[in-house]
Amino acid sequence: MAATSARSIDKTRCLGLCLVISAPSGAGKSTLVERLRAEFPHFAYSISCTTRAPRGEEKDGVDYHFLTREEFTARREAGCFAEWAEVHGNLYGTPKGPVEEHLASGRDVLFDIDVQGALQVKSVFPQGLFVFIQPPSRQELERRLRGRGTDSDEAIAKRLGNALGELRQSGQFDYLIVNDDLDTAADELRAIYVAGRTRTANRPGLLDALLAQWESAK
Ligand code: ADP
Ligand code: 5GP
Repeated sequence: MAATSARSIDKTRCLGLCLVISAPSGAGKSTLVERLRAEFPHFAYSISCTTRAPRGEEKDGVDYHFLTREEFTARREAGCFAEWAEVHGNLYGTPKGPVEEHLASGRDVLFDIDVQGALQVKSVFPQGLFVFIQPPSRQELERRLRGRGTDSDEAIAKRLGNALGELRQSGQFDYLIVNDDLDTAADELRAIYVAGRTRTANRPGLLDALLAQWESAK
Protein backbone atom coordinates (compact mmCIF):
# COMPACT_ATOMS: atom_id res chain seq x y z
CA MET A 1 0.00 0.00 0.00
CA ALA A 2 2.73 2.44 1.06
CA ALA A 3 4.80 1.50 -1.97
CA THR A 4 1.87 2.24 -4.31
CA SER A 5 1.30 5.74 -2.97
CA ALA A 6 5.01 6.55 -3.06
CA ARG A 7 5.09 5.49 -6.70
CA SER A 8 2.13 7.70 -7.60
CA ILE A 9 3.77 10.71 -5.94
CA ASP A 10 6.96 9.94 -7.83
CA LYS A 11 5.10 9.91 -11.14
CA THR A 12 3.35 13.23 -10.70
CA ARG A 13 6.34 15.08 -9.24
CA CYS A 14 9.11 14.19 -11.74
CA LEU A 15 10.16 16.87 -14.20
CA GLY A 16 10.37 15.85 -17.83
CA LEU A 17 13.94 14.97 -18.74
CA CYS A 18 15.79 15.61 -22.00
CA LEU A 19 17.80 12.60 -23.16
CA VAL A 20 19.96 13.84 -26.03
CA ILE A 21 21.84 11.32 -28.16
CA SER A 22 24.46 12.23 -30.78
CA ALA A 23 26.90 10.26 -32.88
CA PRO A 24 28.70 10.34 -36.19
CA SER A 25 26.32 9.08 -38.88
CA GLY A 26 26.39 5.28 -39.05
CA ALA A 27 27.59 4.74 -35.46
CA GLY A 28 24.26 3.09 -34.58
CA LYS A 29 22.36 5.91 -32.91
CA SER A 30 18.99 5.21 -34.60
CA THR A 31 19.31 1.51 -33.76
CA LEU A 32 19.93 2.30 -30.09
CA VAL A 33 17.20 4.94 -29.97
CA GLU A 34 14.71 2.46 -31.45
CA ARG A 35 15.56 -0.12 -28.79
CA LEU A 36 15.20 2.43 -26.01
CA ARG A 37 11.82 3.63 -27.32
CA ALA A 38 10.58 0.04 -27.58
CA GLU A 39 11.54 -0.53 -23.97
CA PHE A 40 10.24 2.81 -22.65
CA PRO A 41 7.19 3.67 -24.76
CA HIS A 42 6.33 6.64 -22.51
CA PHE A 43 9.12 8.65 -24.14
CA ALA A 44 8.10 11.60 -26.28
CA TYR A 45 10.30 11.61 -29.35
CA SER A 46 11.32 14.97 -30.75
CA ILE A 47 10.44 14.83 -34.47
CA SER A 48 12.86 17.10 -36.28
CA CYS A 49 12.34 19.20 -39.37
CA THR A 50 14.76 18.63 -42.23
CA THR A 51 15.38 19.73 -45.79
CA ARG A 52 16.80 16.29 -46.63
CA ALA A 53 14.72 14.06 -48.92
CA PRO A 54 12.96 11.05 -47.31
CA ARG A 55 15.03 7.85 -47.31
CA GLY A 56 13.64 4.32 -47.75
CA GLU A 57 10.45 3.84 -45.74
CA GLU A 58 10.64 7.18 -43.91
CA LYS A 59 7.30 8.92 -43.41
CA ASP A 60 6.57 12.62 -43.15
CA GLY A 61 5.46 13.55 -39.63
CA VAL A 62 6.76 10.26 -38.18
CA ASP A 63 10.50 10.13 -38.88
CA TYR A 64 10.89 13.80 -39.79
CA HIS A 65 8.86 16.75 -40.95
CA PHE A 66 10.25 17.07 -44.48
CA LEU A 67 10.42 20.72 -45.57
CA THR A 68 11.76 22.73 -48.49
CA ARG A 69 14.64 25.11 -47.71
CA GLU A 70 12.21 28.03 -47.98
CA GLU A 71 9.78 26.47 -45.49
CA PHE A 72 12.63 25.64 -43.11
CA THR A 73 14.07 29.16 -43.29
CA ALA A 74 10.65 30.73 -42.65
CA ARG A 75 10.15 28.57 -39.53
CA ARG A 76 13.66 29.31 -38.33
CA GLU A 77 13.11 33.05 -38.73
CA ALA A 78 9.81 32.80 -36.87
CA GLY A 79 11.77 31.36 -33.90
CA CYS A 80 10.11 27.95 -34.11
CA PHE A 81 13.28 25.92 -33.42
CA ALA A 82 14.90 25.12 -30.06
CA GLU A 83 18.09 24.50 -32.07
CA TRP A 84 19.04 24.04 -35.69
CA ALA A 85 22.14 23.10 -37.66
CA GLU A 86 23.40 22.36 -41.14
CA VAL A 87 24.49 18.72 -41.18
CA HIS A 88 26.06 17.00 -44.20
CA GLY A 89 24.66 19.76 -46.44
CA ASN A 90 21.05 19.66 -45.19
CA LEU A 91 19.23 21.76 -42.59
CA TYR A 92 17.84 20.12 -39.46
CA GLY A 93 15.94 21.71 -36.58
CA THR A 94 14.08 20.75 -33.41
CA PRO A 95 10.59 22.29 -33.16
CA LYS A 96 10.46 24.12 -29.83
CA GLY A 97 6.72 24.00 -28.99
CA PRO A 98 6.25 20.22 -28.65
CA VAL A 99 9.42 19.85 -26.54
CA GLU A 100 8.31 22.54 -24.11
CA GLU A 101 4.83 21.03 -23.84
CA HIS A 102 6.15 17.53 -23.17
CA LEU A 103 8.62 18.70 -20.53
CA ALA A 104 5.99 20.83 -18.79
CA SER A 105 3.66 17.83 -18.60
CA GLY A 106 6.44 15.72 -17.05
CA ARG A 107 7.16 13.58 -20.11
CA ASP A 108 10.73 12.67 -20.94
CA VAL A 109 11.86 13.69 -24.40
CA LEU A 110 14.32 11.78 -26.54
CA PHE A 111 16.43 13.68 -29.09
CA ASP A 112 18.41 12.13 -31.92
CA ILE A 113 20.38 15.14 -33.15
CA ASP A 114 23.85 16.07 -34.34
CA VAL A 115 26.68 17.34 -32.15
CA GLN A 116 26.19 21.04 -32.90
CA GLY A 117 22.48 20.78 -32.09
CA ALA A 118 23.11 18.78 -28.91
CA LEU A 119 25.47 21.42 -27.62
CA GLN A 120 22.87 24.13 -28.32
CA VAL A 121 20.26 22.09 -26.41
CA LYS A 122 22.78 21.73 -23.56
CA SER A 123 22.99 25.48 -23.22
CA VAL A 124 19.15 25.69 -22.97
CA PHE A 125 18.48 22.56 -20.87
CA PRO A 126 21.75 21.91 -18.96
CA GLN A 127 19.95 19.47 -16.66
CA GLY A 128 19.43 17.04 -19.58
CA LEU A 129 21.44 13.88 -20.17
CA PHE A 130 23.87 14.22 -23.09
CA VAL A 131 25.14 10.96 -24.55
CA PHE A 132 27.63 10.48 -27.37
CA ILE A 133 27.72 7.17 -29.26
CA GLN A 134 31.16 6.31 -30.65
CA PRO A 135 31.83 3.80 -33.42
CA PRO A 136 34.51 1.24 -32.48
CA SER A 137 36.74 2.36 -35.40
CA ARG A 138 36.74 4.31 -38.65
CA GLN A 139 36.78 1.07 -40.61
CA GLU A 140 33.71 -0.25 -38.82
CA LEU A 141 31.92 3.08 -39.28
CA GLU A 142 32.48 2.89 -43.03
CA ARG A 143 31.36 -0.76 -43.08
CA ARG A 144 28.11 0.18 -41.28
CA LEU A 145 27.41 3.14 -43.55
CA ARG A 146 27.89 0.97 -46.64
CA GLY A 147 26.04 -1.99 -45.11
CA ARG A 148 23.00 0.17 -44.32
CA GLY A 149 22.58 0.65 -48.06
CA THR A 150 20.67 3.92 -47.78
CA ASP A 151 23.28 6.50 -48.80
CA SER A 152 25.09 7.28 -52.05
CA ASP A 153 28.91 7.01 -52.21
CA GLU A 154 29.01 10.79 -52.14
CA ALA A 155 26.83 10.98 -49.01
CA ILE A 156 28.94 8.27 -47.31
CA ALA A 157 32.16 10.14 -48.10
CA LYS A 158 30.68 13.33 -46.65
CA ARG A 159 29.50 11.56 -43.47
CA LEU A 160 32.87 9.87 -42.97
CA GLY A 161 34.65 13.17 -43.61
CA ASN A 162 32.60 14.87 -40.88
CA ALA A 163 32.98 12.07 -38.33
CA LEU A 164 36.39 13.10 -37.01
CA GLY A 165 35.25 16.65 -36.23
CA GLU A 166 32.24 15.20 -34.39
CA LEU A 167 34.39 12.77 -32.40
CA ARG A 168 36.64 15.65 -31.36
CA GLN A 169 33.65 17.34 -29.70
CA SER A 170 32.54 14.24 -27.84
CA GLY A 171 34.38 15.34 -24.68
CA GLN A 172 31.65 17.93 -24.12
CA PHE A 173 29.04 15.21 -23.57
CA ASP A 174 28.21 13.75 -20.14
CA TYR A 175 28.44 10.13 -21.28
CA LEU A 176 30.37 8.20 -23.95
CA ILE A 177 29.18 4.83 -25.18
CA VAL A 178 31.26 2.77 -27.61
CA ASN A 179 28.78 0.93 -29.82
CA ASP A 180 30.83 -2.20 -30.47
CA ASP A 181 28.58 -4.93 -29.14
CA LEU A 182 25.00 -3.70 -29.61
CA ASP A 183 23.55 -5.37 -26.49
CA THR A 184 26.26 -3.89 -24.27
CA ALA A 185 25.74 -0.42 -25.74
CA ALA A 186 21.96 -0.72 -25.27
CA ASP A 187 22.48 -1.79 -21.62
CA GLU A 188 24.70 1.24 -21.01
CA LEU A 189 22.20 3.63 -22.55
CA ARG A 190 19.36 2.18 -20.46
CA ALA A 191 21.48 2.50 -17.30
CA ILE A 192 22.23 6.17 -18.02
CA TYR A 193 18.55 6.94 -18.53
CA VAL A 194 17.28 5.02 -15.51
CA ALA A 195 19.88 6.61 -13.22
CA GLY A 196 19.23 10.08 -14.68
CA ARG A 197 15.53 9.88 -13.91
CA THR A 198 16.23 9.40 -10.22
CA ARG A 199 18.52 12.42 -9.85
CA THR A 200 17.44 14.73 -7.05
CA ALA A 201 17.38 17.70 -9.43
CA ASN A 202 14.82 15.88 -11.55
CA ARG A 203 12.38 15.47 -8.64
CA PRO A 204 12.06 18.87 -6.99
CA GLY A 205 8.62 18.26 -5.49
CA LEU A 206 9.09 14.70 -4.40
CA LEU A 207 10.36 15.29 -0.89
CA ASP A 208 7.79 18.03 -0.14
CA ALA A 209 4.96 15.79 -1.33
CA LEU A 210 6.17 12.91 0.77
CA LEU A 211 6.56 15.13 3.86
CA ALA A 212 3.07 16.59 3.34
CA GLN A 213 1.64 13.09 3.11
CA TRP A 214 3.59 12.13 6.23
CA GLU A 215 2.15 15.10 8.12
CA SER A 216 -1.43 14.45 7.00
CA ALA A 217 -1.18 10.81 8.04
CA LYS A 218 -0.31 11.77 11.63
P1 ADP B 1 23.00 6.12 -37.23
O1 ADP B 1 21.59 6.34 -36.80
O2 ADP B 1 23.98 6.47 -36.15
O3 ADP B 1 23.32 6.80 -38.52
P2 ADP B 1 22.19 3.33 -37.67
O4 ADP B 1 21.48 3.01 -36.39
O5 ADP B 1 21.38 3.55 -38.89
O6 ADP B 1 23.23 4.54 -37.47
O7 ADP B 1 23.24 2.13 -37.89
C1 ADP B 1 24.04 2.06 -39.06
C2 ADP B 1 24.13 0.57 -39.47
O8 ADP B 1 24.94 -0.13 -38.51
C3 ADP B 1 22.78 -0.13 -39.52
O9 ADP B 1 22.78 -1.02 -40.63
C4 ADP B 1 22.74 -0.90 -38.19
O10 ADP B 1 21.94 -2.07 -38.28
C5 ADP B 1 24.21 -1.23 -37.96
N1 ADP B 1 24.60 -1.33 -36.54
C6 ADP B 1 24.20 -0.54 -35.52
N2 ADP B 1 24.81 -0.91 -34.37
C7 ADP B 1 25.61 -1.95 -34.67
C8 ADP B 1 26.50 -2.78 -33.89
N3 ADP B 1 26.71 -2.61 -32.59
N4 ADP B 1 27.16 -3.76 -34.54
C9 ADP B 1 26.98 -3.96 -35.88
N5 ADP B 1 26.16 -3.23 -36.66
C10 ADP B 1 25.48 -2.22 -36.07
P1 5GP C 1 20.04 11.60 -41.07
O1 5GP C 1 20.02 12.43 -42.32
O2 5GP C 1 20.99 10.45 -41.15
O3 5GP C 1 18.67 11.21 -40.58
O4 5GP C 1 20.63 12.55 -39.93
C1 5GP C 1 21.86 13.20 -40.11
C2 5GP C 1 22.26 13.85 -38.81
O5 5GP C 1 21.35 14.91 -38.48
C3 5GP C 1 22.23 12.88 -37.63
O6 5GP C 1 23.41 13.13 -36.85
C4 5GP C 1 21.00 13.30 -36.88
O7 5GP C 1 21.10 13.02 -35.50
C5 5GP C 1 21.02 14.80 -37.12
N1 5GP C 1 19.73 15.43 -36.83
C6 5GP C 1 18.48 14.92 -36.98
N2 5GP C 1 17.57 15.79 -36.55
C7 5GP C 1 18.24 16.88 -36.11
C8 5GP C 1 17.83 18.13 -35.52
O8 5GP C 1 16.68 18.44 -35.32
N3 5GP C 1 18.83 19.00 -35.21
C9 5GP C 1 20.14 18.71 -35.41
N4 5GP C 1 21.03 19.63 -35.03
N5 5GP C 1 20.55 17.56 -35.95
C10 5GP C 1 19.61 16.66 -36.30
